[in-house]
Amino acid sequence: MGEMPHQDRLAAGVSDAFRTFAAELEKRMPGRSDVYALFDSDGRYMIHHPFSPEAAAHPVTAESFLSEPFITAFTACTRDRSYRTAALDWPPSSLEAHPYVLASLPIFSEDNTLIAYLVRIAGDGTPETVLADSMQLVGIAFAAYMEKEIAEGRSRALHTRYDELERKASGKEALYEMAMQIHKHNDVDQVLTELISILEQLLSGRTFEIYLSHDQYCSIASVKPLLFRQLDGDSRLLAFTEGRLVVGIDGEGKPDEAVFPLRGNQGVYGVLRLAITDGIQPDAETIYGITMLADTAGSAFENARLYEQSNRLVSELRLINEITQRLNQSLKLQDIFHFASTELRHIFDAEFSCILELDKANSELIVRASEPASFFSEHIATDYGFAGRVVTTKEPIIISDYHADRTIRSVWMDATNSRSLLASPIMVEGSVVGVILVTHRRAHYFSYDNYKLLQTLSGHIGLAVSNASLHAEVRKMVQTDRLTGLFARHYLDDQIGLFQKKDYCGSLVVVDIDDFKKVNDTHGHQIGDRVLIQVSAIIRSCIREGDIASRWGGEELAVYLSQATKEQAMHVAERIRRRVLAETSPKVSVSCGVSDWNREDEKVSVESLFYRADMALYKAKHSGKNRICIG
Ligand code: GH3
Ligand code: MG
Ligand code: MG
Repeated sequence: MGEMPHQDRLAAGVSDAFRTFAAELEKRMPGRSDVYALFDSDGRYMIHHPFSPEAAAHPVTAESFLSEPFITAFTACTRDRSYRTAALDWPPSSLEAHPYVLASLPIFSEDNTLIAYLVRIAGDGTPETVLADSMQLVGIAFAAYMEKEIAEGRSRALHTRYDELERKASGKEALYEMAMQIHKHNDVDQVLTELISILEQLLSGRTFEIYLSHDQYCSIASVKPLLFRQLDGDSRLLAFTEGRLVVGIDGEGKPDEAVFPLRGNQGVYGVLRLAITDGIQPDAETIYGITMLADTAGSAFENARLYEQSNRLVSELRLINEITQRLNQSLKLQDIFHFASTELRHIFDAEFSCILELDKANSELIVRASEPASFFSEHIATDYGFAGRVVTTKEPIIISDYHADRTIRSVWMDATNSRSLLASPIMVEGSVVGVILVTHRRAHYFSYDNYKLLQTLSGHIGLAVSNASLHAEVRKMVQTDRLTGLFARHYLDDQIGLFQKKDYCGSLVVVDIDDFKKVNDTHGHQIGDRVLIQVSAIIRSCIREGDIASRWGGEELAVYLSQATKEQAMHVAERIRRRVLAETSPKVSVSCGVSDWNREDEKVSVESLFYRADMALYKAKHSGKNRICIG
């Protein structure tokens, strides 16, 4: 609202004051037929107020003040801008008995500027002198009214302005509050819900729609996707791609929609479309408000997405970190498979899981961990089922509904009655070493994020498997004698130490090839080696699983028979002796020394066991070879 010029405001104030003053005067002086009028400082007629006009024979109108007698009398009164009275022959055609008397009172403002002339015309025979006196009082009263009126006018103007400012401020305040309200949320759906509820309040009754770009997901039904194909030249598309307010025009050139982009710092996420039904573009303030809300929503939206993303990343990282730490706690493959299978079931909230190890040599997959456990140790051909497909393609698989697409048959899926599947290869150095299957009986159970996460996790499982395999290989290498494939001596020593801690008894058989030097001398070292390998194989096949055959040094071999008595060991040694004699080529014989230990011995030690076996062997050699002696 523009500021009024000072003079106009005064004039307006005087007119207002005149109206209230004259009305009040009329009320207080019933029965009189005075006419009051107001003239501006230049003597121009402004307004008049006749008392009981219905009683007057000649109604006074604005024209009455243009009549010559009036102007003459008025001019006479105002010549020196002082208070005057004058006789008035007015109205000219008056038939009334009494002559009129005119009193004119100049009205000055506080700073002594002439503002107006207050005129009173009395036609009821009031003598001029009486009128002059009373007019003085009227003037004082009017001045008071005028002061009041001007002050009130000023205050009214101030109030109006204040209200306006306040309205604007509170509008902004409210918008700010709304913006804060929107920003409070870290969840895309909540941001949108808040925005919708605010817009419903703000745009009460008006139709609006929210569109999100196709790559933004939300679960609010009223939020529509922006479909680019259908939107060629559409205001929504324009607002979205150009990130600015676009006002759509209908066939008659009238605005029919305003589309606001939902802008964040990094991009535009969708649009807000406001329908215009009256053909009138919303005012600047409304536009400002909606733009602000749309931008707020856009950045809140962006924040929510970033928050979701970073949350997911952080929890994935935490998970991966935890899993890799725990995976690498164990260097035993079996532990890793079992742990991974259980853990994956928890992570994906799946019902079943299975880890298969690839046995390349036999072209089959062996179930190393499984829930249900009934599948444990099953062998599956590498050209069968989803696991087979993963081995062939080296690619992960996501199946939303096994029942809907049965191009691949799977006993696993059938047996568990699963419909959703995630499958991923376990890769080590670019080749598949195993397959992970995770399933659920509900269709469409796993998300794309689950699928991605399984891929990440299987990478880490692959590393753990690779570590464990490597470790197992190195360990085996260190533990094994290369020529014979038997355990190395230090391994035998260590194991006997362990057995002696937990077992009640055990026996040791030391086997030495007779006249081996001669074999070497006769047939050469290579043949000698072959004989050594033959004898080793015979020994291995003569013992139980859990017994330990080792190369103790040179052509001397040693077998530890756990929980075996001297007599049992004698039997094993005898079997070895006989078979060596029968099966080796070139034929050799062996001599054996047997020793044993049990809990009741005074001193149980690895050294003593070996010493006694060695003594027995020595005895066997010196009593003709190809025989067994007990230490
Ligand atoms: P005895 O009946 O008293 O045991 O006679 P021997 O010839 O078997 O015993 P000796 O200890 O005199 O010789 C052991 C020979 O075994 C010496 C060595 O050349 C041979 N030898 C040790 N280790 C190997 C091996 O790894 N390969 C081959 N070819 N010969 C080996
Ligand atoms: Mg020998
Ligand atoms: Mg020897």
